[in-house]
Amino acid sequence: MKTTKDNKNGFEIFGFKKNILRGIKEAGFSEPSPIQQEAIPIILDGLDVIAQAQTGTGKTAAFGLPLLQKMKNNGEIEALIITPTRELAMQISDEIFRLGKFNNVKTVSLYGGQPIKRQIELLGKKPQVVIATPGRLLDHLRNDRLKNFCPRFVVLDESDEMLDMGFLDDIEEIFEFLSNDRQTLLFSATMPTPIKHLAQKILDNPKLIKITPDNTTNTDISQRYYIINENEREEAIVRLIDSEIPNKAIIFTRTKKEADILCERLLDRGYNALALHGDMEQKDRLKSIKSFKESKINILVATDIAARGLDISGVSHVFNFHIPLNSESYVHRIGRTGRAGKKGVAITLATPLEFKEIRKIKESTKAKIELYEIPCIQDVLHNKESKMIENILKQDISDESLRLYEQLRGNVDIAQLVCKLLSMILKESIVIGPNKIGYKKEDLIRFNNELESIKKKKQPRSRNHRDRKDTRNKRDSGGKNTKQTDSKNHKRRK
Ligand code: AMP
Repeated sequence: MKTTKDNKNGFEIFGFKKNILRGIKEAGFSEPSPIQQEAIPIILDGLDVIAQAQTGTGKTAAFGLPLLQKMKNNGEIEALIITPTRELAMQISDEIFRLGKFNNVKTVSLYGGQPIKRQIELLGKKPQVVIATPGRLLDHLRNDRLKNFCPRFVVLDESDEMLDMGFLDDIEEIFEFLSNDRQTLLFSATMPTPIKHLAQKILDNPKLIKITPDNTTNTDISQRYYIINENEREEAIVRLIDSEIPNKAIIFTRTKKEADILCERLLDRGYNALALHGDMEQKDRLKSIKSFKESKINILVATDIAARGLDISGVSHVFNFHIPLNSESYVHRIGRTGRAGKKGVAITLATPLEFKEIRKIKESTKAKIELYEIPCIQDVLHNKESKMIENILKQDISDESLRLYEQLRGNVDIAQLVCKLLSMILKESIVIGPNKIGYKKEDLIRFNNELESIKKKKQPRSRNHRDRKDTRNKRDSGGKNTKQTDSKNHKRRK
């Protein structure tokens, strides 16, 4: 994430309390990011804010830190943060808890799927910050379960996402329950008209902050695409996983059903995968995220629910099982890798029919997305062998292995032993599936060139055609065609 280096005092310049600075230090933040630089002083001044910023810009801390600074710790709920998904609610809760750790800040997340009774118990522990999804929050408000609920700070996070998810009416109703004596902060990656209208209704003379949307992709991410036939997607993904050997990978599918099916197929083939999508029970969603974060599984098969906001470190690969719907979604998805200065790989599968879509994404993101061929079995085996030798050479020699070696040395031929051991390991690395998957690079280059030449041929022809027609008109009318056309238009207007 970009931070500004010109501010030598880091976060101290904002005048934060000592305990907050301790939290910031422990979180490992040394310099404020651009959104923090701009938003923190305005929020500290008590003004309403409309901030246009995407996830990954540090926006949670941008609103979280000044709120922590302004907390009175008077036993009441002082801040309400509304966010579209449970995953984001938990993530925000973790971040605020982490930053406010030395300030004794308690946070409670309210979202659907968790028992109401449990949430009432948690509310009883007098949290200062409540982070909620719109549906469940409204449920609590309508049923009068939030006693003396008068938060002085209200944050709407990912507002455009809430609009897309159909939460706008809920949001408007929620604001009917809130006191007018509040500071309101609206965060959104984009500013569609309904969000602007909402802002007019709920904000009071807000300050506008716009962090130039980074529609370009991170240069730490190597971006590739592979052209395959529709029926080859699964084999292609498996082959690429085998050849890339990802540390942690997210595979994005278009639908929830597709995520389930692909995850099951990967499990059948012995991969360590879990699915993540909106139709799953809350506890299963949590399990998937936790297992992936803790590296208990290394493949997460997810719908776009994981594309926005989720911050999981160490994702080495992002796979697009299908091409994303638009370049914005592409940027969000692949942004799950190449985080915190680490290198990442983003791989997109597309059919020849989707080739045009790749071009559109390339044009709008200005990214270098390169065409690759899916490796054949021999290439994957070769890759796996090199990796295996590399790992063997890196392996530390344990005391037990030395003891065994001493025992065996007199009885077994060591060369034979090594070959036996290698055979044992190699048994694990079989590569299945057809040898050739997808299109060859040279075929695709030819295909691309043909597309380009059709495009080029089309453009001049239509211009020439128009030119020729003009000349003919002029010739036919003896140079009076303009007048004729004018009078025709005049008649038509009448
Ligand atoms: P967000 O945009 O709030 O989702 O933040 C994205 C990631 O950046 C989170 O992991 C934050 O903990 C991290 N982050 C936020 N502010 C900073 C900062 N000033 N320096 C380094 N990392 C940060």
